Amino acid sequence: MTGTRFFALLLAGLALPTVAAPLAGQEPAPIQAGVAPAPGPYAPGVDVVHYEVEVALEAGSDRFMAAVEIEVAVEGHQAVLPLDFTGLEITHLTVGGRGVPYLYEAGVVRVPLAGTAPGDTARVALAYGGTPDDGLILRENVHGAPAAFVDNWPNRTRFWLPTVDHPADKATVRYTVHAPAIWEVIANGHLVAEPAPTAPGALGAGGDRRTWIWEVGVPISTYNMVIGAAEMEIRTIGLAACGRAPASRRDDGCVEVTTWIFPEDVENAEPSFRRSAQMVDFFTDLIGDYPFEKLANVQSATRFGGMENASAIFYSEQGIASGRNIEGTVSHEIAHQWFGDAVTEASWHHLWLSEGFATYFGALFFEAADGVADFRERMEGSRMSVVGSADVERSVIDPEETDLFALLNDNNYPKGGWVLHMLRGLLGDDVFFAGIRTYYERYLHQAVLTEDFQAVMEEVSRQDLDWFFTQWLYRPGYPVFEVEERWLPGEGGAGQAEVVVRQVQSDAWPRFRVPLQLCWRTAPERTCRSAVSGSGEDVLRFELDARPQGAVALDPDGWVLKDVRP
Ligand SMILES: [Zn+2]
Repeated sequence: MTGTRFFALLLAGLALPTVAAPLAGQEPAPIQAGVAPAPGPYAPGVDVVHYEVEVALEAGSDRFMAAVEIEVAVEGHQAVLPLDFTGLEITHLTVGGRGVPYLYEAGVVRVPLAGTAPGDTARVALAYGGTPDDGLILRENVHGAPAAFVDNWPNRTRFWLPTVDHPADKATVRYTVHAPAIWEVIANGHLVAEPAPTAPGALGAGGDRRTWIWEVGVPISTYNMVIGAAEMEIRTIGLAACGRAPASRRDDGCVEVTTWIFPEDVENAEPSFRRSAQMVDFFTDLIGDYPFEKLANVQSATRFGGMENASAIFYSEQGIASGRNIEGTVSHEIAHQWFGDAVTEASWHHLWLSEGFATYFGALFFEAADGVADFRERMEGSRMSVVGSADVERSVIDPEETDLFALLNDNNYPKGGWVLHMLRGLLGDDVFFAGIRTYYERYLHQAVLTEDFQAVMEEVSRQDLDWFFTQWLYRPGYPVFEVEERWLPGEGGAGQAEVVVRQVQSDAWPRFRVPLQLCWRTAPERTCRSAVSGSGEDVLRFELDARPQGAVALDPDGWVLKDVRP
């Protein structure tokens, strides 16, 4: 769906009168995707615990049928479950098995949980179907074969599955999918049993079908809840995280790492995924236990290069079909299993906790596997994206932005990655990674804000890091340095290097407090000194044994996000 058509639909929606109690069968106009919700509690008084989802798919049809039973923990009095849902016809809705009046308008189904009290569990069941406007993409794949893939980010789950569509409300899910027998069906979690012929009379049109049951035993965010179905070839890459995957249902305690690829592209895909099990092991060692039951790498219809759906990563079908090596994307999406999927930002405006982390940890795999030069090249690529980007005129955490797609920017990805790199440089590897492991372990399967991460890093490092988080995440820009240097000769060849470090960035940006290394070429090895640039102009003097060869190098090992003017 193009942006232009979205706009027309939005206008049409605004023109519709408000309906107090829609009749069964009524389908309100679709809403616009990717709009940030108003600040404040999202669905007060309710917490969804589990979604029991049944979906019937047909090859070559743009329609589907579905049913969902939602288990809700009631936390407030006179609770109402506000289910995000749009563009599909509801044919049945009950609470505890009884029909209730409900309101379905402006992208929300409001279901009163009458007669419940805090501490109760309510069960809300819906049946629905139709042609989804978004979210569940029912169309031919890149090779012209029929396919069905879910693509939810940021809050497009509502186009195919009624949910409290917010990353902070995590729930377990069980999917029962009836699909044409020639299709393979993937979803989050573990396969409950091998796919079996669909029972006569099951939901949906008949025909030669198989039923697949996937179940996620740990809570995940709605944007991660996916199914995918097409003719695919399944290959096992290997086993990983053995003994370090508490969610695994395998007897050996490992997770299976697989690829699900359209038959035409199996050979093309191989180089991109051959190290994917190794990546899982790397992140498990570095961060903590693998959080989910398995890891499937799936070629799919997604508008993104890759989408990190918990334990079922969806990659752009074109990217793989083109034969391009997308190993950098693979590492990024696998890193997301820990950051984004298992520890999730509680607000989209803290997206750097997902994207900045995946950008940085994705690059760390290559530092370990391919060496520091490869890693520095990736960080330099990130730096180049930030320097000169219009995005950095705003801060990384930017609650004013209401278009959630606009958050997929140079702040949340490369600058967010650099924030972690600078924190590592500031604290050193031991403290930094100890903090990362504590943060992961403490907030596993929960949703967090930046202040939670900051508090853990302060606790583990025993340092006040408020200045660091404030200047890099809540203020725009980065430092732009100008350096002047002169040699003040002393006795016997020794002397002082006087270095004037100026921060000359835009006045709209802060002056940054930047711990820096300054190094000179000297024999037999370089001479380095530490200093802090903290104001508009710092005059630094260093006693040196001999006059260095050549000019001083500011931060030669690349620990600071910056630009240097010649
Ligand atoms: Zn990402």
